[in-house]
Amino acid sequence: VLVPMQLAYIGLGSNLEQPREQIKRALQSLGELPETKLLDDSGFYESKPMGPSDQPDYVNAVAELETALDAETLFRHCQSIEQQQGRIRQRHWGERTIDLDVLLYGQEQIDTTDLTVPHPGIGQRDFVYLPLLKISPDIVIPGKGALKEIVQSCASDETDYACTFAGNIK
Ligand code: ADP
Ligand code: MG
Repeated sequence: VLVPMQLAYIGLGSNLEQPREQIKRALQSLGELPETKLLDDSGFYESKPMGPSDQPDYVNAVAELETALDAETLFRHCQSIEQQQGRIRQRHWGERTIDLDVLLYGQEQIDTTDLTVPHPGIGQRDFVYLPLLKISPDIVIPGKGALKEIVQSCASDETDYACTFAGNIK
């Protein structure tokens, strides 16, 4: 279904099989989606794993898209990119070649069995909010307010995965 152009943000993460290459490939695929333009990316970030700690560190990034796909269709495309890149789901929060989460879709609030937008982890995971704020420092989370203020008020050990910027994506 085509809708008026929306700004959407996708969170990417990988900790298997050359994570930086996985992220680059997924960004390229996002840019090739129908009715969609890749406007910006955050660059690479490195972070400690969430969940099981006996897995490699992560490389993360956020992509900013302009799209005429509706949120559900965009989400389905994200899932098929995960599959193209050989994602296998084994354990909860376990290692993966690529994870694509729909963080924000315009100002929409969606809550279906498959899809929750805004993504509930945005304000609680430094590997999400740091790259997101890099692209869009004044971004507003619908129903919640300015992200930078949310982050200031809930910053704690539980939001800290030692996420640091790790270079531009070429
Ligand atoms: P995680 O991202 O938490 O490591 P998965 O990628 O395996 O876990 O996703 C688990 C489920 O989360 C998916 O099956 C999907 O239906 C659901 N989900 C809910 N909201 C979103 C969203 N905004 N973006 C991506 N997946 C979502
Ligand atoms: Mg996911």
